[in-house]
Amino acid sequence: MANKSTESWGRLKRANHAIIDYDDIALDAKPDMRLPFGNGRSYGDSCHNQRGILVDSRPQCRILDFNKQDGILTAQSGVLLSEILQILAGTEWFLPVVPGTKFVTLGGAIANDIHGKNHCHRGTFGRHVRRLVLKRSGKREIACTPNMNHEMFEATVGGLGLTGFIVSAEIQLSPVPSHYVLETKRPFGSLAEYLALAEESESNSEYSVAWLDSLATGDDLGRGILITGNHAPCVKSPRYGEPKVTIPFTPKRPLVAGPVLRAFNWAYYRAGARQVEPAIVHPNAFFFPLDAIGHWNRLYGAKGLYQHQCVLPFYTAPDALKEMLEVSQRAGHGSFLTVLKRFGDKPSPGLMSFPMPGFTLTLDFPNRGATTVALLNELDRITQQAGGRVNPYKDAHMSAETFQAGFPHWERLELMRDRAINSDFWKRVTARKALIPPDMETPEINQAPQPGIQTMHLKSNTTQ
Ligand SMILES: Cc1cc2nc3c(=O)[nH]c(=O)nc-3n(C[C@H](O)[C@H](O)[C@H](O)COP(=O)(O)OP(=O)(O)OC[C@H]3O[C@@H](n4cnc5c(N)ncnc54)[C@H](O)[C@@H]3O)c2cc1C
Repeated sequence: MANKSTESWGRLKRANHAIIDYDDIALDAKPDMRLPFGNGRSYGDSCHNQRGILVDSRPQCRILDFNKQDGILTAQSGVLLSEILQILAGTEWFLPVVPGTKFVTLGGAIANDIHGKNHCHRGTFGRHVRRLVLKRSGKREIACTPNMNHEMFEATVGGLGLTGFIVSAEIQLSPVPSHYVLETKRPFGSLAEYLALAEESESNSEYSVAWLDSLATGDDLGRGILITGNHAPCVKSPRYGEPKVTIPFTPKRPLVAGPVLRAFNWAYYRAGARQVEPAIVHPNAFFFPLDAIGHWNRLYGAKGLYQHQCVLPFYTAPDALKEMLEVSQRAGHGSFLTVLKRFGDKPSPGLMSFPMPGFTLTLDFPNRGATTVALLNELDRITQQAGGRVNPYKDAHMSAETFQAGFPHWERLELMRDRAINSDFWKRVTARKALIPPDMETPEINQAPQPGIQTMHLKSNTTQ
């Protein structure tokens, strides 16, 4: 067992963990002591369990099978999406859903049921998981699919790592002409203009995302660039390598504030406003622009950064979005990167998946202590009043009340939680409410077992 000081992507605090490999989780563990860990790209404390034991998935990083005919790929959970994409480069298959960074593990993508720029068309990552193998503490591996052990499947997809360790998964890939993307950039002058454009843009584009100039005020409030794209035929085979440039140290104060923040927003808007001709771009440039700079999170300074991502129902979004941008500006906290996307109505298989139909706004703030926390509380209040929810795997501060209002099914996940697993996030937002005694047995098994795999059906009486 090794000891390691780990950070999540927000770098708000370091946590001391012991790290074990997957092979050691057969050993009995004390309640609440463990947590599966991927590549630490979650921003807040959902991938931390202070003074606990992280089960490192990265050593489990083999591709187990790739059927090029049907586009079905099976891999161990510690493989990075960048490694999967490299295997797929040059084929006519692509991951159906990718987040804004390719350096996340397959297990992390499932446990957070991540979304991409194509939610309206493909929904979340979990929709494309055909089967996963789960290891719960002290038990044998079990296979879960949308039809077999389906309650455990639904709790595990978007289950924040709390139901057990995802050992491997089988995913359905999407057919594409190539990995390259025909990108179109279109400026819009206000929030209202974006809201009118967003739905229309999705009818002829697989991908759609808006960047907002967080400093624009008055009639320009919410102006930005709408970036859309479709996979395009291209004979080139892309490389999904490591960043070429890395921020080598952490400045004491954030570098993404004040004049830099203003200059960046102004220049990005001008540059986007000029480009009118669609262009074929490398997938790294279209999907993962931030990955070009290693450790870019250090630019937010020694105190780290908060990311606030909410989703708001369509009918309340116009007012709530306006209020959020205004509140951030009034607090003197322009967000460095402000992103707005539209979620469609494709249902997520996960009990606790974050997306729901509506608009999702993402704001990044350097941590300035109490003033930043006060702003985040305001953003949470607006989200809750608008009937929305805050993204758990970006969060590092929301109250139990805000969380439970946004995720009314949370108690069902608590019932399915592996009693040896917990996270700092989960302890905070559930206020440690004990629903079942920690020594309660795993639910009953009543399905025919497959060779080498223990299957089980949960006899919980919970309903969706
Ligand atoms: C620049 C950037 C852009 C991003 N863009 C997006 C985006 O567009 N859309 C989006 O949805 N997210 C986005 N994210 C968030 C990121 O995709 C998720 O947090 C992702 O789940 C992180 O994966 P990870 O492998 O780093 O897992 P970690 O952060 O290490 O862990 C994430 C969760 O998964 C659990 N977990 C990890 N491995 C396993 C396993 N084997 N079995 C069971 N549970 C496991 C952990 O316990 C934890 O709860 C972005 C993050 C960054 C840094």
